[in-house]
Amino acid sequence: MAARLIDGKALALQVRERLATESAAVLAKTGMKPGLATILVGDDPASHLYVKSKQKACDAAGIYIDDHKLPASTTQTELLALIEKMNADPRIHGILVQLPLPKHIDSKVVLEAVSPDKDADGFHPYNLGRLVEGHPVFEACTPKGVIKMIESTGVSIEGKRAVVLGRSNIVGKPLALMLVQRNATVTICHSKTKDLSAVCREAELLLVAIGKAKFVTADMVRDGAVVIDVGVNRVLGPDGKNKTVGDVDYVPVSERAGWISPVPGGVGPMTIAMLLLNVVEACGRKVGL
Ligand code: NAP
Repeated sequence: MAARLIDGKALALQVRERLATESAAVLAKTGMKPGLATILVGDDPASHLYVKSKQKACDAAGIYIDDHKLPASTTQTELLALIEKMNADPRIHGILVQLPLPKHIDSKVVLEAVSPDKDADGFHPYNLGRLVEGHPVFEACTPKGVIKMIESTGVSIEGKRAVVLGRSNIVGKPLALMLVQRNATVTICHSKTKDLSAVCREAELLLVAIGKAKFVTADMVRDGAVVIDVGVNRVLGPDGKNKTVGDVDYVPVSERAGWISPVPGGVGPMTIAMLLLNVVEACGRKVGL
């Protein structure tokens, strides 16, 4: 039987509509809008596109945007000074530093300069640490979105065998921790994992974030599994045009899985919705709502 679709785009829209209502309520009660500072350094066209779509979503949800586009020649000291200013600005509840940064800037130093209580992306070591000890504040947007997508299926996470493919600090590791926190039994796989297919076949929840086009094939998937595809890969289609595909070989895997998320239209829109959610929640914490 064909898998049921986890429609990230539709789910994200629901979240964004709810947030628009919440932002309006915060504004009515406190006179304050939730605020996000976006900081983009350099001319990378993909980064400009990502920031623009995040800003558009914020605008629709009633979130104030403080937009900072800086030239590629910006020094680390200048960038850190701007972050310090945003950390101190009471109108700002979240700070987004779009990655990648130019090579002469140390991303780790910059991300750690963002105040942990304005860390809308959830990348600060403090927030990762809070997740490790089971009391998260800001959670990284992509894994948070994946959890909401699993929850939307009605399949309970508790007691399930979950396999996370990929161990990055922004997706795989935090996602595994979020699953453990919800009482799944979790295996994290990476490029050195032996007999990867056999490990994947044990998964009732298979969460894939490795950045390899159509890597997960139907023989790696357990019947009825929930499969969520985080991957974003640009490949040449049969028509000679570039297209975006995930890390999962969608058509054959959807013949075996119980639930599956598409690419595009899956995790991507949910990541943006979770950024908005983080900002609105941070504003709520600040104003005591
Ligand atoms: P990353 O930092 O490049 O990490 C990739 C991970 O996959 C690493 O842990 C790596 O293992 C593992 N891996 C690579 N090849 C493998 C293989 N053949 N078998 C098993 N594991 C393998 O990637 P990321 O930042 O987590 O992103 C992963 C994918 O998700 C990318 O396509 C990215 O574009 C996408 N993404 C999407 C969103 C969204 O909003 N939709 C957000 C973030 C990322 P090692 O650690 O051993 O090297």
